[in-house]
Amino acid sequence: LECYSSTGRGEKERTLGIIKPDGLSGNYTNRIKQVILESGFEISKEIVIQLDEQDAANFYAEHSSKIFFTDLIRYMTSGPVLVMILEKEDGVAHWRNLIGPTDAGKAKITHPHSIRAMCGIDLEKNCIHGSDSHQSAEREIAFFFKEAPLDEAVRKHDEL
Ligand code: GDP
Ligand code: MG
Repeated sequence: LECYSSTGRGEKERTLGIIKPDGLSGNYTNRIKQVILESGFEISKEIVIQLDEQDAANFYAEHSSKIFFTDLIRYMTSGPVLVMILEKEDGVAHWRNLIGPTDAGKAKITHPHSIRAMCGIDLEKNCIHGSDSHQSAEREIAFFFKEAPLDEAVRKHDEL
């Protein structure tokens, strides 16, 4: 049984990656996956899904009071997205580092080798998502990938 934790050496930590609609429609999928694999991540699960407004609003609930929320929901529902569970030691931090800063326009200058610099455009259309903490990652993974109750029970038992 795998133990998913950000603590301890050699243990993999899961995080969530989403190739957003502009990344998928811009045919960046293969290049992004190449960078992911070359950076030592394992892609353990993936799905392509079309989010509806309610899905996107739930996923980004933390931003519901922001002025850009409506635009964000329109963007995230403008086409299908590719959702991936990524695994690596210290995966959350490494993935945030690899995608680069939120503003893809600035990323092109300050983080030219980041994924957002490679395929994003601006502060909104930045082509890729990454969980911002271990806790967010587990919540976001549960949002897209419902785990079998049995697996969950076994894991909990294993943690005791
Ligand atoms: P992230 O964690 O780097 O993705 O950034 P945030 O959690 O702050 O924002 C979530 C997403 O909302 C970003 O990835 C962008 O797609 C979008 N976004 C963030 N800030 C703005 C903004 O000021 N304007 C617009 N239009 N979109 C934004
Ligand atoms: Mg965020």
